[in-house]
Amino acid sequence: MPQNQVNQALMKPRRVQTKCECQATLVATLDDQCHVLGGAARQSGAEENAPAHSIGAHLDRFDVAWLCPFCGRNTLRTFYAGAITAA
Ligand SMILES: [Zn+2]
Repeated sequence: MPQNQVNQALMKPRRVQTKCECQATLVATLDDQCHVLGGAARQSGAEENAPAHSIGAHLDRFDVAWLCPFCGRNTLRTFYAGAITAA
C-alpha cells in the first residue's frame, strides 16, 4: 500500500560516515532525532562495533563521537542535520 511505503521511508534510519585518524571508516546509524542507534568501524575488510553517541542532536549542527575500536581514539565529527539523507 502506498501509505505504508511513505511511512517506511520516513522511519528509515539515517547514516553518517567519516574517517578516523587511523583511516578506519566510522559509521553511525541515526534515528529521526539524530540520536545514534548504533556505530561501527571498518578497516581492511574487518568490521567492529564502535561505541558512538550524538552531542547536541536537537541542533542543526550536531556532533557524533565514536570510540574507534582499531586505535582507541575518540573521534568527533560535526554534521549538518539537514544534509543527512536516508541510509
Ligand atoms: Zn581509529
